[in-house]
Amino acid sequence: MYTPLPAAVRARLLRWFDRNGRDLPWRRTTEPYAVLVSEIMAQQTQIARVAPAFDLFLRRFPSLHALARAPLADVLRAWAGLGYNRRALALHRLARTVPSRLPDDVAGLLALPGVGPYTAAAVLTFAFGRVVPFADTNIRRVLGRLILGRTATVAEATDLDSRYLAPRRSAKWHAALMDLGATVCVARRPRCNLCPLATLCRGRGLVEAPQAKRQSAYATSDRRVRGAIVAALRDAPDGLRPAELERVVGDARTDRLAAALVAEGLLARSRSRLRLAR
Ligand code: SF4
Repeated sequence: MYTPLPAAVRARLLRWFDRNGRDLPWRRTTEPYAVLVSEIMAQQTQIARVAPAFDLFLRRFPSLHALARAPLADVLRAWAGLGYNRRALALHRLARTVPSRLPDDVAGLLALPGVGPYTAAAVLTFAFGRVVPFADTNIRRVLGRLILGRTATVAEATDLDSRYLAPRRSAKWHAALMDLGATVCVARRPRCNLCPLATLCRGRGLVEAPQAKRQSAYATSDRRVRGAIVAALRDAPDGLRPAELERVVGDARTDRLAAALVAEGLLARSRSRLRLAR
């Protein structure tokens, strides 16, 4: 059983957000396509890198129609610097599935490529003004620490959110939790002295154990090589022969991973050259 959330939590959080919320470009729109693009970009990329890429991407592909008409190779070029190119492929497929408008219900959104429960809920909240509970990493941390005294699991945080969210200001409530988690209730050493919820929080003052560093694993990972393959072909509009590609990428896994990228639809092979798929 969870204790009732003191009414002061909502008031303090929303007031803090008015003064301290991040000025992010997608917060200035409720256009569903723009909100979707921001959510997919932010899934696995730091916000500081998403913000400039978001503006450029929307200038290049201002609508679902424009994205659907564009060759995938152009979309992958516009995705440069964001990583996880499969998201660009999924977004492009999504646009070709629903080039006119996004569905405005959970089932319709979940049926689209690259859209999971979090993305569907975020689009419904920020674009369509619906009241749908959800939790990203920041929300898990803030609601978990506040009520449980520790970071919550996705299921726990979604349940807490469903009980406590501000129904008439759902978008603002979620944006405020995300911003508090990103700037004050941060992962290792929360800045409780700056937190508007400090006097109401069960987890106040806690310090979480550091997570194992994963950077070194990335340096040797297949993901790095896959990214390097796509990057090399971004700069080669006529494609590259497999041997040339391996020389540019500088890794013996190039051939195997390029074959996987062809199978996934990110690359195409024609006349013994590899290039970005169209
Ligand atoms: S008091 Fe500290 S632990 Fe609690 S929500 Fe604020 S920053 Fe997070």
